[in-house]
Amino acid sequence: MTQRDEAMRTEHAARLAAQAQTAAVCLDFDGTLAPIVDDPNEARPLPRTVELLGHLTARFAAVALLSGRPADYLVEHAPAPGLRYLGLYGLQEIRDGHRWVDPRLEAARSAVMAAQQDLRECAAVRDSGAYLEDKQYAVAIHTRRVADPARWTAAITEEARQVADRHGLEVLLGKLVWELRPAVRSDKGDAVRRVIAESNARSVIVAGDDLGDLPAFAAALELKGRGGDALRVAVDSAEAPPPLLDQADVIVDGPPGLLEFLRRLLA
Ligand SMILES: [Mg+2]
Repeated sequence: MTQRDEAMRTEHAARLAAQAQTAAVCLDFDGTLAPIVDDPNEARPLPRTVELLGHLTARFAAVALLSGRPADYLVEHAPAPGLRYLGLYGLQEIRDGHRWVDPRLEAARSAVMAAQQDLRECAAVRDSGAYLEDKQYAVAIHTRRVADPARWTAAITEEARQVADRHGLEVLLGKLVWELRPAVRSDKGDAVRRVIAESNARSVIVAGDDLGDLPAFAAALELKGRGGDALRVAVDSAEAPPPLLDQADVIVDGPPGLLEFLRRLLA
C-alpha cells in the first residue's frame, strides 16, 4: 500500500466518522475484536475494546457484533450499552436486553429437543460416553473426550443421521463432533442488511478476519451500489484468507490494529 493510498483510506474513514449519526458499524468477534486462542471458550476482546464499543454506540447510528457464536456469548464477553449482538450469523439478536430469534429457528426448537432425547437412547452415543451439548437451537454429540473415539465414529454417524431424519434436522459433521440442527440458513451479509435497514444507515463500516465475513463485505458493497458509502476492513493475520484481503478497502494488523482503527473513528 502506497502512502497516498494510505492517506486516501484514512480520509475515507474520517469522512464516515464525520457522518456517524447515519453510519452503521458491523464487527466480527473472533479474530477481529478477540485474538484467536486454542480454546474457543477462552476468546475475549482485547482490553479496553468493550469500553471503546460503548463510546462508538453513543455516536454511530448502530454498532453491532456479528458472529457465528450464540448472542449470549457476545453479551457476556462484550457488555456495552447500546451494542447490538447478532449471534448464529444473524439468526438471533440481543438488543437492549430484548431477545429476538428467527421464527424459523424458534419453530424447530421442539424438534431439536426431541432429537436430543432420542440421542440419549442411541446405543453408540450412550455406550461410548459421548457428551451431548444442548446448543438451544441445535444439539451436538462430542467424542473428543471419549477413549478411542475412532471406534465409535461409524456407529454414531449412522445414529445421528437416523435421528436427524426422524426430526427433519440436518447433520453438520465436524472433527469428533456431530451437530444436529434445523436447515435454516443465514450469513453475515443477512445480518449486515438487517442492521442497515433497521438503523436507516446510509453508510456502513464492516470488519472481519475470515471467509465468513465476505458476505458482510458484499452487503456493504450493495449499500454503496444504492448510493451509500461503505468501508470494508480486513483484519490481517498469518491465516488471513487472500480473498478477504483482496476485497478490503483497509487492512489492519490483527485485533490491535482494529482497536486502533476504531479509536481513530472516535478521534
Ligand atoms: Mg472471525
